[in-house]
Amino acid sequence: MLRSDPMDQRKIGIHYDPVYEEHDTGPHHPESAHRYQVLRKSLEALPEEFKRLGRRTAKLEEVLLAHDKAYHDTAKHDIEALRETLSTGDTNISKDSYKVALEATGAMLTAADAIMDGAVDSAYCALRPPGHHALAARGMGFCIFNHIAITARYLQQKHGLKKITIIDWDVHHGNGTEAIFISDPTVLYISTHQEDIYPGTGQAHVRGRGDGLGFNLNLPLPRASDGKHALKAWDKHITPKINKFKPDFLLVSAGYDARKDDPIGGLNWDDETFAQMTKRCVQHANKHCQGRILSMLEGGYNPEGLALASLAHVKALA
Ligand SMILES: [Zn+2]
Repeated sequence: MLRSDPMDQRKIGIHYDPVYEEHDTGPHHPESAHRYQVLRKSLEALPEEFKRLGRRTAKLEEVLLAHDKAYHDTAKHDIEALRETLSTGDTNISKDSYKVALEATGAMLTAADAIMDGAVDSAYCALRPPGHHALAARGMGFCIFNHIAITARYLQQKHGLKKITIIDWDVHHGNGTEAIFISDPTVLYISTHQEDIYPGTGQAHVRGRGDGLGFNLNLPLPRASDGKHALKAWDKHITPKINKFKPDFLLVSAGYDARKDDPIGGLNWDDETFAQMTKRCVQHANKHCQGRILSMLEGGYNPEGLALASLAHVKALA
């Protein structure tokens, strides 16, 4: 079969959509529709070999794969009541935010299906709001629903996959994703993040709980450290961990706020760092899971930098 040969050109799916610009976080917010628009326009310029993937509205039962019903109802109610922020945390919302969040989750599930059906080998979903800070019962950190956590459970339940690895290279620790899978030995969560910033979680000694002990890997990185530092951590800690786990699918919480010149993050990665991390993901995916990688946008607040680093990621996927 063609797709099992790593020497073949990989089929890459990309997803972007102006619908994500309808989630209005207000003036001067770093997680803005403008930042997304700059990224979307750069992705639109990619050649047609990058297959455009669609989206759908996620169903309630899919949201509940990772969230409590009470929290879902609270978030929906907060948005319908036209609150400016979620009552559970620091996520700005607007009248269309619930709809947009469901489209974002649905885009990830659509891409997961496309990979499992063999339409593409891997895919990048450019969407917002982001997801990795959202806990089962609490939205926070610009996030409403945890798209990647929902997708991991969806792959297990709908497609019967057993073991999922989630790599999170956003500059912030994905506290929501970690918490959702902290006791789950079937989902290996790996995060690199800046050690001294929001949300304050992500210590190296947190390695999982109960049956999940050993299936959580936090690699906090010092402020102002560069991409070489991060890639050394990859080769020393992440590569052996993935090789031991042997995932059936690789998910990536791809934030770009660890890039130099990001107004929120304090790391110094260049675009090549994102390309190099992606190439490592491709090698792991080819070795363990028929090349299956699905990545999604999390943070990244310098619009031009976000676009450049995303392009480096997408091109390295191919
Ligand atoms: Zn972030």
